[in-house]
Amino acid sequence: MTNTELEKSTEIKNSQIEHTREIPVEINHEIECPRCYAMMSLCSDFDSLFYSCEECSFILYTIKKNNLP
Ligand SMILES: [Zn+2]
Repeated sequence: MTNTELEKSTEIKNSQIEHTREIPVEINHEIECPRCYAMMSLCSDFDSLFYSCEECSFILYTIKKNNLP
């Protein structure tokens, strides 16, 4: 991984709110955690979208971008 790519990945992790603009409308930005019922925030990784619970660290994956045609 080059320095440029490393900077880019850090940038994405630090701007998750801005990154949610790319998410389709039908995906809720926040859902209730099935484990502790706190609100889970929608996060995105390089190849997937997932909900992350800050209360219990539960991760719920929604879409694998690699599976898109
Ligand atoms: Zn939770």
